[in-house]
Amino acid sequence: MHSIPSAHAKVRSSALALAHFFSPAHSQTMTPIRSSLAIAIAACLALSACQKASQPADQVEVPNATVATSAPVAAPLTLDSSTLPALAAFNPADLDPAAPACADLNAHVNGRWLAANPVPSDRTTWGSFEMLAERSLAVQKQLAEQLAANPARTGIGKLVGDIYASGMNEAAIDAALLQPIQAELDQIAKLDSTPAIVAFLRAQQALGQPMLFGLGAESDFKDPNLVIAYVGPGGLGLPDKTYYVGDAHKVEREAYQQHIAATLKLAGATDADASAQATAVLAIEVALADKSYSSEELSRDVSKYYNPISVADAEALAPTFGWTSYFADSGLAAPGTISLANPAYFKQLSEMLESTPLVDWQAYLRFHMIDSAAPYLAKPFADQNFAFYGQALRGQKEQKPRFKRVLDTVNGQVGEAMGELYVEVAFPPESKAQMEALVTSLKGALKIRLEKLEWMSPETRSKALEKWGSFVSKIGYPDAWRDWSGLSSTPDNYVGNVRRALAYNFAYEMAKVGKPKNRGEWGMMPQTVNAQYNPLQNDITFPAAILQPPFFDPKADPAENYGGIGAVIGHEMLHGYDDQGSRFNAQGSFANWWQPTDATGFKKRTQQLVEQFNAYEAAAGKKVNGLLTLGENIADLGGLTVSYDALKSAHPEQAASSKDGISQDQRFFMNWATVWRRNYTDKEMTVRLVTDSHAPARFRANGAPKNMPAFAAAFNCKPTDPMVRSGKSLIAIW
Ligand SMILES: [Zn+2]
Repeated sequence: MHSIPSAHAKVRSSALALAHFFSPAHSQTMTPIRSSLAIAIAACLALSACQKASQPADQVEVPNATVATSAPVAAPLTLDSSTLPALAAFNPADLDPAAPACADLNAHVNGRWLAANPVPSDRTTWGSFEMLAERSLAVQKQLAEQLAANPARTGIGKLVGDIYASGMNEAAIDAALLQPIQAELDQIAKLDSTPAIVAFLRAQQALGQPMLFGLGAESDFKDPNLVIAYVGPGGLGLPDKTYYVGDAHKVEREAYQQHIAATLKLAGATDADASAQATAVLAIEVALADKSYSSEELSRDVSKYYNPISVADAEALAPTFGWTSYFADSGLAAPGTISLANPAYFKQLSEMLESTPLVDWQAYLRFHMIDSAAPYLAKPFADQNFAFYGQALRGQKEQKPRFKRVLDTVNGQVGEAMGELYVEVAFPPESKAQMEALVTSLKGALKIRLEKLEWMSPETRSKALEKWGSFVSKIGYPDAWRDWSGLSSTPDNYVGNVRRALAYNFAYEMAKVGKPKNRGEWGMMPQTVNAQYNPLQNDITFPAAILQPPFFDPKADPAENYGGIGAVIGHEMLHGYDDQGSRFNAQGSFANWWQPTDATGFKKRTQQLVEQFNAYEAAAGKKVNGLLTLGENIADLGGLTVSYDALKSAHPEQAASSKDGISQDQRFFMNWATVWRRNYTDKEMTVRLVTDSHAPARFRANGAPKNMPAFAAAFNCKPTDPMVRSGKSLIAIW
C-alpha cells in the first residue's frame, strides 16, 4: 500500500533490483545485498521499494569476534509499552464538516490532521505508516538497548546488541575517520589496467559489496521452484535515469556533482582535482544511465528483470568481465543458466571499461566506495552524505537521531534476528488467528467476484480461479526463523560488523543457487510496516508491525478493520491480477494464461485507470504518472472493492449500525482514507513522482472510492459530485 520510511538512498547495484531497491538509511549504504528478485518485483503496499536492505562487508577479520549461534538470548527481554508513541486509530473528531466527503474524502477525513501534523524534521513523509514505523523503532530501541547493556548476551541477542553498541559508539567511529575503508581506497589508487579494475569489482562483489552491477539469487521466472543467479545493473547515484538528461532535474544533477566533489575533497583531494574528478564521475554515470531502464519501464514490464543466458553467452556479450571467474569468486563455480538483465547496459559497461581513462574509473570507484560507506563513517562523511541524499534531494531538514540510523543498519544486516526478538515482546498471538479469519473472508469475496466477472471468458476465468486457489498467506512472522550460525560480531567495530554481515548475507544468498526455492522464506521483516505480494510464489505477506491501528485492531469495529487491513489484504491479493502480477500463473511461472480477447478487455479497463491518475496534479505543474502507478491503482481499486464485499457478507448484522452517528459503510471508507493520511516534503514528492510505483497518498485515498457506487451511496453523493464517477467513466476491473 504505501510507503513507509525513507526511500532515500541512492540506488546501488544489487542483483536485479536497481531502481526498486532503496536502503532504509538516508543514503546509500554500502549496498543492498539481500537483493532478491522477488523483492525487486514484488509489489508492496506502501513503499516504493519492498525492501530488505543491507550494507557493507569486509574481509578484514576481527580477531576477537565471536561466532553467533541461534541460541536464545541470555535474559528475557521486556517492553515498556507506556513510553511508546501513541497508536493512531480513526477518530471521528478529525472529520472536517467544511470539506464534504462527496467533494474530497481525503480532505474530509484527513484535512485537519494533515494541517496539524507537518513532516517531522528528521523525515520526508509523515502519516499513518510512519507513525507505526516510529512505534516499531521505539520497540526495537528498547530491545537493542537492553541487549547492548547485557554483557552476557548470546546468539541473535549478541548480534543485535553488538551491532547496536558499535553503531552508537560515535567517539570511536569519529576517531577512525576513513580508516575502515582505507585498504580499499589504497587498492583503488593502485589499479593500473582494465583487468585490475575488473578484478577489484569481482572481489568487492564476493564480499557482498557490489559496484556498478550486482548478483542475487531468486526463483527462475520460468521454473519458480528452482533458484538461479540474477545479474542486474546499478551504478547510478541519482534516483532514476531521467535525472541524467534534460532540464527537469538539472538542479539535482548539479547538486549531485557538487556532492561528489565535496566527498572527494573530504577524502583529501584538492579543490581542482575534486572538481575534475566529479565531472568525470558524472560523465560515467550519464553514459550508464543512457543504457539503464527508467523506473517507469521497470515497473510496467517485469520481463525486463529476466534474461536467461549461459555464462558463455555472457562472456560473448560483455567480454571484459571474465564472467566465469566472477561467478566462481562469488561461490558459484557452475551457475548453470543465469539471468543477465539489460544486456545493453552490460555491453556499454564492458566497452567503457576499455575506453574510459583509468583515472576516471578510479575517481568513480573512490567516490562510490566512500559514499556508500559514509553512513557508517565519521561525522564529516555521514553529514556530507545526508546533505545530498537527505536534504538536497529529499528536503529532509535534519539527520535522523543516531539510534534510528543504527537501527536501520541492524534491520538491513540482521533484520530477521531483530524481528524474532520484536515478535516475542510486541505481537499478540491472538492477532494472528484473527488475521487468518480476515484473509479467509477476503478470499471468499474475491472468489465470488472472479466467478461473476462479465468481461472474462470461461477459459481465462478458470485460470484466474486456479490462481486464486493457490494463494498462500504469511501473517506476522515466519514459521521458521533464519539460522545465523557463523556470523560474528563485536561490540566495538561498526564497519567491521556491517561488512561481516554483508559478506555473510551474500554467501547465504549464493548458497541458494541451483537449489529448490524455500517457499517459507519471507521477503519482509516482522517489524516492517508494510505488506507484500510476490508473484513468483503467489504469496501475500503481512508483517506483525502493520497489524496495528489504523490498519488492524483485534478489538476494533469490523467496518474499520475491513476498511484498513481488509483492504490491504485485498490489495495484495489483487496484485496477483494487476498488469504485471497477471503475467504469472498459479504456480508462480512467468506464463501467459490469458485468452487474447480477455487480455484486450483487461487492457481497455486498465487504460481508463491510467487516465484517471494521469489527470491528478500532485504539485504545481507536476502530474501523477498513471502508467508508473498502474499496478498499485489496480490493486487499490480491486482490493477496496473486495474488502467491501467481504464486510457486507461477514457482518450483515451491522449493516444498519451507527457509531458516533457514522454508518458502517461510512466508517469503512473513512478508515481507508485514514490509512492514507500522509504529508510529504516538496522534494520527496518530486522524487516519488518519478520513481515510486505508488501514487501520492491523497490520490489513493480518493482514487478507488470514486469508482465505487457503494461510496456514493454511503455518503448520499450526487452524480455530479467530484467523488463520483459514473456511466462510462466508472472503472470496474476485478
Ligand atoms: Zn501494492
